[in-house]
Amino acid sequence: MSKVYNFSAGPATLPEEVLKEAQMELLEYGGSGMSVMEMSHRSGSFKKIIDEAEADFRELAGIPEHYKVLFLQGGASLQFAMIPMNLMKNRVADYIVTGQWAKKAYQEAAKYGKANKIASSEDKTFSYIPDCSDLQISKDADYVYICENNTIYGTKFHKLPDTKGKLLVSDVSSCFLSEPIDIEKYGIMYGGVQKNIGPAGMVIAVVREDLITGDVLEGTPTMMNYKTHADAGSMYNTPNTYCIYMCGKVFKWLKKMGGLEVMKARNEEKAKILYDFLDASSLFQGTVVKEDRSLMNVPFITGNEELDAKFVKEAAAAGLVNLKGHRSVGGMRASIYNAMPKAGVEALVAFMTQFEKENR
Ligand SMILES: *Cc1c(COP(=O)(O)O)cnc(C)c1O
Repeated sequence: MSKVYNFSAGPATLPEEVLKEAQMELLEYGGSGMSVMEMSHRSGSFKKIIDEAEADFRELAGIPEHYKVLFLQGGASLQFAMIPMNLMKNRVADYIVTGQWAKKAYQEAAKYGKANKIASSEDKTFSYIPDCSDLQISKDADYVYICENNTIYGTKFHKLPDTKGKLLVSDVSSCFLSEPIDIEKYGIMYGGVQKNIGPAGMVIAVVREDLITGDVLEGTPTMMNYKTHADAGSMYNTPNTYCIYMCGKVFKWLKKMGGLEVMKARNEEKAKILYDFLDASSLFQGTVVKEDRSLMNVPFITGNEELDAKFVKEAAAAGLVNLKGHRSVGGMRASIYNAMPKAGVEALVAFMTQFEKENR
């Protein structure tokens, strides 16, 4: 294998098995005589692909019938607007701002109604998750919004906020299918698939059926009404057919791996290798409060910008790529999603050990 270990935050590494299968089927899928890319989304072959993808996703994540699973376009960012357009009946929503993505969602919602920032960790560069056990939830809030795993800062809600009975809406882009899901705790859970599931260009939104009323804010485009897509089985217009096909393959891979309990254990094991190293290192350190650490995105620094840059450069030369931190925080970040093998994390730690010896 000549491939590198790719620690990109997204688009991110995909299971090699899945890529190989897609390669084999690139020119001709099944007995269809054509590539999935060339196929009508109304064809029988594609119908089977999307139906199986949805069924496998439901099985993996334990999604019951009264939640709709929608395959949408526009990225996670379009959901920042689609959520208030569909849910803000009272034009009030509460936002917990734990990073850039949550902040963008909060700012977008403010265009449609009163968005309240009820908690934030911006005072310490989003390096922790605020205490959300007894927040001032607005009486008339239509929902409470969180970004569950903060891709840029490497924090994760290990305990969901107490929404005091209000609907919880969660952006799970960077932790989607990394551990078992208890969907009944959410009104809407959604995520862009390019972090932990598939190629870029699609969002999966899991929406409780009773929230899909079609009664949306005035002026909401047809394409941004959940009902449009729910009624049409995600095929109101041409969906991202190839992405659905690829995600479907990843769902089958996850099932073969043993499902989300197994993925959680694997992810914990991988993250522990890296965090244990960081905690013991005299050169590198993690940037996040320990109890709020993400299993998926691990930011770290040396405390010296020049040394950080040297590290990123030398690591890339050694086949460990995309370790540069987000432009807003600097330092390094290793994204170790489902598809990153344990061997990749071990190779990173071995390289860091060597780098530490040479640069102390
Ligand atoms: C990457 C990311 C987004 C933005 O995704 P796009 O698909 O580029 O719009 C939103 N939220 C989180 C948590 C992310 O990691």
